[in-house]
Amino acid sequence: MISVEEAKQLLLENVGILSAITVEVADASGYALEENIIAPTDSPPFSQSAMDGFAVCLPEPFDATEAVKFMIIGETKAGDSPTEALLPGTAVRIFTGAPIPENTYCVVMQEKTTTINNKVEIALSALHKASNIRLKACEITKGTRAANKGMPINPAMCGFLSTLGITHTQVARKPFISVLTTGNELKKPGAVLAPGQIYESNSFALQSAIKQCGYHTLTIDTVADEESELMDKARKMLNESDVLILSGGISVGKYDLVAGVLQNLGVKKIFYKIAQKPGKPLYFGKQGEKLVFALPGNPAAALVCFYEYVLPALHKMSGHTRIGLRSIRLPLSKDFLVKGDRALFLKAVVEGEMVGITEGQESNILMSFAVADALVYIPAGERIISKGGMVEVHLLPT
Ligand code: AMP
Ligand code: MG
Repeated sequence: MISVEEAKQLLLENVGILSAITVEVADASGYALEENIIAPTDSPPFSQSAMDGFAVCLPEPFDATEAVKFMIIGETKAGDSPTEALLPGTAVRIFTGAPIPENTYCVVMQEKTTTINNKVEIALSALHKASNIRLKACEITKGTRAANKGMPINPAMCGFLSTLGITHTQVARKPFISVLTTGNELKKPGAVLAPGQIYESNSFALQSAIKQCGYHTLTIDTVADEESELMDKARKMLNESDVLILSGGISVGKYDLVAGVLQNLGVKKIFYKIAQKPGKPLYFGKQGEKLVFALPGNPAAALVCFYEYVLPALHKMSGHTRIGLRSIRLPLSKDFLVKGDRALFLKAVVEGEMVGITEGQESNILMSFAVADALVYIPAGERIISKGGMVEVHLLPT
């Protein structure tokens, strides 16, 4: 049995980044950049007005003491070519996004001006050099680094790349993922249960978690605890996917066939069994560059193992540099007695500035998980953590 830290290190050491593909920026959200982006243009490409108002050029000589009157010589709106240069004592009516005429001292917002016929009067107190002007390249200068390889592409990044005129970008491919749940007792929800049977839930929880994290399940299936059937289905799924996630059948019982089947399929074991609760029997192996996770069958354990181990692997292979659930530290809202010597992943709820551990931490209980928005990680060791003690909190995706 290895520690959580050893397992996580082994995991990341054994996961490579998938090949790069080119996607349209409009479809790029959720991927990670596979290239550094150098700005192909200035943003903004010209100095522009940040307000509706007047672009003014101070009179010469400038001897006003209270207000200045400017001669209005024209108008410019967003999309217009720049007007001619302003002469001293003149102004143009200008709208947000319009190019700033040469010799502009500042732009004064419309609300601070009084127009009388073809003149505009502005108080001295409203004339601040260069105000209300978005200078050319104030966001980014052509030829400089706009974004780094590994950054997640969020909607704002899609907008930013578009601002720079970029239409396509290189991203790391996302993995093809298959899920195979195992167990003689499992029936699909909707069917009638015979005595001894239960409803299969792991495929639904895992598929939803995969989708919520921005990935896609290629195939999903359930198989009985029957060696040849398990072998056939696992082989087929492994052939067509980058990641195979199994659940159940990975403990030490007579009907726990998964480890043997994976060995027969030529999957190389990287680790099996971690000193953690829940999820002790977690198995991770590789067939070439393909990853295989065998999660415990207990539903809460399976989902914890997905978030804590499978998700970091998915992030790494799809090129992300922010890996796994976001981790913060918060004080506990109540005393908590840590039992046993394994590391714990506890279902928890963030309550304002604190975190509370929910009732129902057993590995078969999903009800508490269903209301949790975080997992509290307690490293191995037996002790009481008092109210207010700081703990590591892994935020679940929302
Ligand atoms: P196993 O890991 O196969 O020994 O299963 C451990 C426990 O989890 C048993 O009580 C199983 O019935 C249950 N279990 C296994 N797979 C699933 C599943 N896909 N959905 C719901 N419960 C499961
Ligand atoms: Mg089983």
